[in-house]
Amino acid sequence: FSSEPSLQVDSTEENGFKGHGMLAPFTAGWQSTDLNPLVIERSEGSYVYDINGKKYIDALAGLWSTALGGNEPRLIKAATDQLNKLPFYHSFWNRTTKPSLDLANEILGMFTAREMGKVFFTNSGSEANDSQVKLVWYYNNALGRPNKKKFIARSKSYHGSTLISASLSGLPALHQKFDLPAPFVLHTDCPHYWRFHLPDEMEEEFATRLATNLENLILKEGPETIAAFIAEPVMGAGGVIPPPKTYFEKIQAVLKKYDILLIADEVITAFGRLGTMFGCDMYNIKPDLVSIAKALSSAYMPIGAILVSPEITDVIYSQSNKLGSFAHGFTYSGHPVSCAVAIESLKIYKERNITEHVQKIAPRFQEGIKAFSGNPIVGEIRGLGLILGTEFVDKKSPNDPFPAEWGVGSLFGAECEKRGMLIRVAGDNIMLSPPLIMTPDEVEEIITKYGDALKATE
Ligand code: PLP
Repeated sequence: FSSEPSLQVDSTEENGFKGHGMLAPFTAGWQSTDLNPLVIERSEGSYVYDINGKKYIDALAGLWSTALGGNEPRLIKAATDQLNKLPFYHSFWNRTTKPSLDLANEILGMFTAREMGKVFFTNSGSEANDSQVKLVWYYNNALGRPNKKKFIARSKSYHGSTLISASLSGLPALHQKFDLPAPFVLHTDCPHYWRFHLPDEMEEEFATRLATNLENLILKEGPETIAAFIAEPVMGAGGVIPPPKTYFEKIQAVLKKYDILLIADEVITAFGRLGTMFGCDMYNIKPDLVSIAKALSSAYMPIGAILVSPEITDVIYSQSNKLGSFAHGFTYSGHPVSCAVAIESLKIYKERNITEHVQKIAPRFQEGIKAFSGNPIVGEIRGLGLILGTEFVDKKSPNDPFPAEWGVGSLFGAECEKRGMLIRVAGDNIMLSPPLIMTPDEVEEIITKYGDALKATE
């Protein structure tokens, strides 16, 4: 999300799509007009193939999303069976479909960090976070607290790109020239110890300082105006930033003190990415609301969802009983084909014990990549489970990032692409988030390609 233009190597063979007709998401104009897009044609397990037949290991699982890799026959069958039976029916006005009801129950059964009440379906993570804001406002209006409407998010967070979810996000590129963030959104510290700790400040002291800063912000604004705090258990697009020790414990104490709701944005972390079923399990987070998407259907069909606490559900029900209906939802909320695929995905996670599999292969993945920490252009390599980020620097000092125009992340990304590996690049950060079904050999392939690309970049 670096807003600076960065050098990019066109590593794709001429494919006839230069200057194509699509206004592409998160793509610069010059990329669309001057460079070949990389056109992916098919997938197989942890690999994807472009239209020239070149094979890539998909070290980002699409967009942190195809947890079960490509061509999982059970997901394809679940989709085609449902398409044959009932391709669509909606869930408005107390009409619905069996896959959406079954999926809601399944999700509620899998989330054990605390008891949840109901599930609301969306089509994406952005829509889930957008809907979170509406739900929270509706809830506070119902409770007669019309001024409790502000949201606190964190700098470097990513919560999506609709008007509201982009406002919640803490990345400048999502705000610039879009007249965002919306005025009801405030941003507090990014919990990145390596980059933002004070000299001699230990990790737990850093967490205490961030919790104090949050409390000061709440007091400055007036606790009666703050509705909710939203956080990814591990920041993803901002650079893969796991929280410092004791962070969520301290943040949750502050939120509780001022009656502020906690929303866990688990769009990346849900369903095994960290080695636990949810990020909330990893960090002992007890949220009021949760957003999920991506691995919910292993990205085979678009779907997102919100888990709503029983307390909030009760208030929504009693208010809508007075007003006539809870007037929020989408044509495709609980789309039966997406729900059928999601049900099958969750079944597979359980049957194949996906969290145990991740726990088994993650140590080699983490330690194999972290072995490159001594490289002079590597500032920090961080992550856990099957998510990992690298922040490049020109000297080993957090205060000396590469000048943006060097585009070292882009150079590294292009070197990976040349070698047949797809990763995520954002300014001086690169990120890996491979399919959860990776085999040990595929983990070795990622480590080797990472090392070779690093050698070519340094
Ligand atoms: N929340 C988080 C944590 C994400 O990483 C993303 C997407 O990467 C979103 C929300 C937005 O999801 P979507 O792109 O499905 O709208």
